[in-house]
Amino acid sequence: MKDTSNCQTAASKSPIDLAADALRCVNCGREFQGLVRSCPDCPTSLLRMDYGRKQFEILDQPGIFRFGNWLPTRGACETTIGPVCYRGEKLADALGLETLYIGVNGYAPQRGATNMTATFKDFEAMPTLLHLRELGIERLILASAGNTARAFAYAGSVLDFQVHIVIPEQMCFKLWIPIEPGDKIHLTVVEGSRDYFQAIRLADLLSKTYDIVPEGGARNVARRDGMSTCMLECAREFRTLPDHYVQAVGSGTGGISAWEASMRLQGDGRFGATPSKLHLAQNAPFTPIHDAWENGIPIEPEKDVEEQVRRIDKISAPVLANRKPPYSEIGGVRDALKATKGYTYSVENPKASEARDLVERTEGFIASTAASVAIAAMIEAVDRGNISSSESVLLNITGCGIDALKSDYRTHQVPTALKIPISDITPEGVRKYGGDFGG
Ligand SMILES: *Cc1c(COP(=O)(O)O)cnc(C)c1O
Repeated sequence: MKDTSNCQTAASKSPIDLAADALRCVNCGREFQGLVRSCPDCPTSLLRMDYGRKQFEILDQPGIFRFGNWLPTRGACETTIGPVCYRGEKLADALGLETLYIGVNGYAPQRGATNMTATFKDFEAMPTLLHLRELGIERLILASAGNTARAFAYAGSVLDFQVHIVIPEQMCFKLWIPIEPGDKIHLTVVEGSRDYFQAIRLADLLSKTYDIVPEGGARNVARRDGMSTCMLECAREFRTLPDHYVQAVGSGTGGISAWEASMRLQGDGRFGATPSKLHLAQNAPFTPIHDAWENGIPIEPEKDVEEQVRRIDKISAPVLANRKPPYSEIGGVRDALKATKGYTYSVENPKASEARDLVERTEGFIASTAASVAIAAMIEAVDRGNISSSESVLLNITGCGIDALKSDYRTHQVPTALKIPISDITPEGVRKYGGDFGG
């Protein structure tokens, strides 16, 4: 049994703020209650939380929950997960920048960053599960072979929450966490497969057939608002909204979240009226968001799939490979770039590894390949004059310290509970597995 006694059910925000919190359609403003992911009248629009408390205020709560006023959760739970932000003076000197804030959102205990799967996906998982629990929902399903799956396996184990994870069998080895997996973590693999898209299809069918809430991606407000805490931490620590925000993106959800954090901070009145400019970086040769923003090439997830997969196989940061980012949705990535007068970048593998080495030498932590793409983009932004030396920059290190985490903790593989062959990925085929999914 996991000890879940440290998970509060009592509200951590004031009842007045809580009552005023509203989930709204970005397009028409219609208000929704409970777990709603899209507006029936505006299917291409995201929904967004409109928080009752407009003042930026820190709660006396652990980790990420200190930003609970601007999270959809009403309560909090004991956790070490949360953003860290410090001034990176050595890296700033190396690049000729006056003011560089580094968000260390992986695992770097020497900096106080103790995210237990070493990426900022931990900011998503914990608030999402707690939020669902508060709505009376006790299980969720997702297809991921990457950091999202690890973050949910960890958070589900801590919170004793049922998490169904679906992955291609050949990616099983990637699914480890630094604690004993809870018995409610249920891993389904697509037998003999290495194709992520079969896993997505299977998760989708299982979700519909057995009525299991999907994780939701960019449409999950707990995910976005969890990710937005990187900006909030910079505002807390340095009382400022930085001129620029730099992040490596696959879906671009973190970019949307940074824009939303900018707007909330502006609503406070003490952080000026200009949102942080987004600098969103992708790993060449797979750069759909960059191609769309810079060159107007439409994002077509189902077009030339083989060519897309060939490109994905070449990038050193596969966590950035997303064929279907929420780009043209209302309130999505394009709107975030427009509203902030942002930029996108296409970063080659060797540039990313040079950038990682520079940060290791100057700041002493080892960035993940994805975060290295962001560092390289920041260097390019300075070279091109998109960022000038007197302006302030927040660099989001979305992952770091995976080897340090592995040496500080024993790793545990998440065991496979069920194998499903590709031939069963049909509406009738998945009905056989009711025993595993409470059907
Ligand atoms: C998921 C992930 C990203 C990209 O995040 P999005 O904002 O969803 O595009 C970047 N870095 C790391 C380490 C990630 O795990």
